[in-house]
Amino acid sequence: MPNQMPPLEILRQIIADTHEGVLVADCDGKITYANKRMADILGRSSQEMIGTLAYDLIAPSSREDWLKHVELRSQGLKEEYEVVMSGKDGTPILTAVSAMPLYDDQGNYIGSAGLVRDVRLAQSRTFLDSLIENLPNMVFVKDAKNLRFVRFNKAGEDLVGLSRSELLGKNDFDIFPKEQATFFVQKDREVLAGREIVDIPEEPVESRTKGTRILHTKKIPVLGKDGKPEYLLGIAEDITEQKRAEQERLRIIREQAGVEERERASREFLTIASHELKTPMTSLRIQLQMAIRNLANTGKAPSAEKLRKVLDTSALQVDRLTRLIEDLLDVSRIQSGKLSFHLELVDLSVLMLDVLERYREPLEAANCVLNLHIEEAVNAYVDRGRIEQVIVNLISNVLKYAPEAPLSVSLSKFEQQAQIEVQDHGPGIELNLQNRIFERFGRASSSRNIAGLGLGLFISQQIVEAHGGKIRVESEPGRGSKFVILLPLKPTNQPMVNKSTYTAETNVSEGYANNSPR
Ligand code: ADP
Repeated sequence: MPNQMPPLEILRQIIADTHEGVLVADCDGKITYANKRMADILGRSSQEMIGTLAYDLIAPSSREDWLKHVELRSQGLKEEYEVVMSGKDGTPILTAVSAMPLYDDQGNYIGSAGLVRDVRLAQSRTFLDSLIENLPNMVFVKDAKNLRFVRFNKAGEDLVGLSRSELLGKNDFDIFPKEQATFFVQKDREVLAGREIVDIPEEPVESRTKGTRILHTKKIPVLGKDGKPEYLLGIAEDITEQKRAEQERLRIIREQAGVEERERASREFLTIASHELKTPMTSLRIQLQMAIRNLANTGKAPSAEKLRKVLDTSALQVDRLTRLIEDLLDVSRIQSGKLSFHLELVDLSVLMLDVLERYREPLEAANCVLNLHIEEAVNAYVDRGRIEQVIVNLISNVLKYAPEAPLSVSLSKFEQQAQIEVQDHGPGIELNLQNRIFERFGRASSSRNIAGLGLGLFISQQIVEAHGGKIRVESEPGRGSKFVILLPLKPTNQPMVNKSTYTAETNVSEGYANNSPR
């Protein structure tokens, strides 16, 4: 049987080991006992304190006040008060004292005892608590093992839309949608395994009251004494508004850029268009002025041959003007979704031979030897005028950009489609410009000295795609260009372009390009 410890000894040990400082002084104020904790608080040893005056342990500025408290002890009063004591090196130490008078067996006052608490720690903890609590950012702590929330501040409650009591002890899966919770937990594990801060610049979180919010989160591992992660600290800033503002700013910038681009394009268009329109106008005016002058000078009508020449040249210029204007009108129709089509069964073989027959002379004049491979009776539901316009554009481009070289034109059936190919041996088109030439006003730089608005291929593409077909170019600089068109033989319900440009029922009687040789 172990020895029973006498009660006094138990008391002595408790007093010696308790977490509170214990200080006993006699009625003269001399210290008769100080436990280990008391010594620790003041940074002195128990031994050196015994026999000294308690008064000397009080910070000078608090001594006067403290004496009043001591006075109450001699009057037999217990009391709790705060007093600033003085550490060995003179550091002021705020303490909370619970003081009581001491009496001997006869009830004579023999001194006082005080239980002394160092309130600095508690104070700094309160200070930290209130700091964390009042931070505008969400702060949370999870235990490293189960990743359950053990701490959540006010900003966190506001953000998630749940109260602390609903959050503490829960994990992410109890609170957030599965996908988000999986992401959060995966990042937590990463932080704990790597023992390093992880910065998550953007992560969505579902708030109960505010919908989806975007957070910028930092996750920090909190290591225990053994160096193993004990907690995970998270600090998250709600950047939803910031993101929104940023997006809005980008939108405005893009809009401005769009406006500027449109303004630039419209300026460029006006310059090109007026230049293009002016050239045939000037030529026309000169022809007419010369004829008028001749008439005025000679007073006689010109010979039939001369008159024909003047009229031929003038008609050519009028044609050119008409085509330019028609192209511009087509673009405006395309933009407003009013380019309409009248589909009928057309023998494309006949249509192509007709067009090429019209171009026989100009092609000969341009030294373009024509190679023809036209399959017979390739019948397709198309808008005759519009498809003619496309072929005319391709042939007149050959005349403009690829003269003095042979030209091959073919038409064949290919998987329920008509395939038209126009292959020249001209300068070709650089790869990086091959998409550009199908855009509005898109021209390759090599054609700078050749008249044109850069609209023909744009309009052609719109027409072909409205038929459910495709147009493309295959080309290499110096090796000629091949334009390939695929057109479905049967009408398709799924035109490639905006449906509004495809009104198959509407008759198109308004004039489009006069498809005579350009
Ligand atoms: P435009 O001829 O009025 O410029 P297009 O839309 O018909 O307009 O053609 C766009 C551009 O494509 C031309 O400016 C030219 O640079 C290029 N291009 C078209 N056809 C050919 C071709 N056969 N060979 C070389 N370049 C061509």
